[in-house]
Amino acid sequence: MYFDHAEGPVFRPPSEAASFILRVTIGCSHNACTFCNMYRSVAFRARPMHEIMDQIAAARPYAQHIRRIFLADGNALVLATDKLLAILRELAGSFPRLQRVSCYAGPKDILRKTPEELAALREAGLKLVYFGLESGDDLVLKNINKGVSAAEAVAAGQRIVAAGIKLSVMVILGLGGTANSERHAQNTALAINAIKPHMLGALTLMLYRGSELLAEFERGSFVPLPPAGIMHELYAMIHAIDLPATNHCLFRSTHASNHIAFAATLPKDKEQLLADIKTAETKLSRITNWDPYNNVE
Ligand code: SF4
Repeated sequence: MYFDHAEGPVFRPPSEAASFILRVTIGCSHNACTFCNMYRSVAFRARPMHEIMDQIAAARPYAQHIRRIFLADGNALVLATDKLLAILRELAGSFPRLQRVSCYAGPKDILRKTPEELAALREAGLKLVYFGLESGDDLVLKNINKGVSAAEAVAAGQRIVAAGIKLSVMVILGLGGTANSERHAQNTALAINAIKPHMLGALTLMLYRGSELLAEFERGSFVPLPPAGIMHELYAMIHAIDLPATNHCLFRSTHASNHIAFAATLPKDKEQLLADIKTAETKLSRITNWDPYNNVE
């Protein structure tokens, strides 16, 4: 649900399908990850307050149905804290049944906020942040031009959790290709162990038209993992994830990009999850005609 005619595509996490999508920015201020083409067609800009208020005014007649609001586009936390607080207060005053506000956030934007600012945002209604970690490995992060080191990405995730905001971390299976699969699995697991997110989503790499990574693949400098290799990598990652027994991290690998869907709670279901991944790897290793172009979109 959104009430906006501004330029550019609108993306939201699958779990925000029933949310009011409030576009507080257009595009992504980073817009340079080599695997991503989401906002390539649009120049980044922060929306002026009157454009945001117009969207809220248009949504008010539907207030009885609005319980969740997602602040789009790519990294809403890039906005100044005062502006975000003003938006959150307007939302709380406009939608009496509102239960949570969420957004995507980039690591650099998180680290620009102090712990006190993040706590103020939580108090004002920001309850959930979706954070694209992608990988916990420095070399993979450098190769994909994420713009942060693994240590910075971990510090950003930890800062959200420490502020009492729910954190959903996304990682991308296959992002290191065949060359860096093992280090991607191991170091991403270490990052997850350090962050202890509330939710963990594992997507599978797609090669998007217009992305640098597709061009690297076509030049032969990036070799994607076949489906069984993706399962092997996921097994190694989950095996190395070691969360305290008190954690209840919802693990989901149910995105349209995934070859096989998995859902579990970590660490409680870890052994069963590993067994299921192993079974999937055996099954997918029988595929002999896999074509990387199947993963081009
Ligand atoms: S992956 Fe996220 S941060 Fe990177 S360019 Fe795409 S939207 Fe921006």
